[in-house]
Amino acid sequence: MTRTGLYPGAFDPIHNGHVDLIRRALRLVDRLVIGVAVNSGKEPMFTLEERVEILGEETAGLAADGAIVVLPYEGLTLGAARKVGATIILRGLRAVADFDFEFQMTAMNQQLDREIETVFLMADPRHQALASRLVKEIAQLGGNVSPFVPASVNRRLLEKVGRG
Ligand code: ADP
Repeated sequence: MTRTGLYPGAFDPIHNGHVDLIRRALRLVDRLVIGVAVNSGKEPMFTLEERVEILGEETAGLAADGAIVVLPYEGLTLGAARKVGATIILRGLRAVADFDFEFQMTAMNQQLDREIETVFLMADPRHQALASRLVKEIAQLGGNVSPFVPASVNRRLLEKVGRG
């Protein structure tokens, strides 16, 4: 049996915390679908196409061909999970910041579909404070974000903020 997991997010842009989570998730599932939210509720810095392209580039070497699929999705995460045949939804959990929101969301999802489990992976201590929002803010304010993101993302960020 092939176990498929869905890792949903905005990935605007992908940072080292996401990459770490993807590596670890691959130990739990045979096939990992990275769901890129079309409507993340925020005005993204990177277009959907750019986010999908970056994710494809950054995950290409992490697993055998076909084990990672990058897929844009719209609407309910549960709907996307069903569509791709995922039995688990993977989420990262940073310190206390994520807990409230994730707790509520998972409780609601449990009511909607008991067949799909949400599994949380604790953020690595090195990446606990890492968030796309902060990476973008630091880059926009002229700071160096190269310790937090893959090299190609750093280059793209510099271009976006006019320092490329
Ligand atoms: P961010 O919160 O950085 O903008 P997303 O909204 O794209 O990222 O988050 C997608 C998923 O990745 C969520 O489950 C989130 O908890 C997880 N995640 C975000 N940052 C980290 C991190 N530093 N370490 C582990 N998981 C993370």
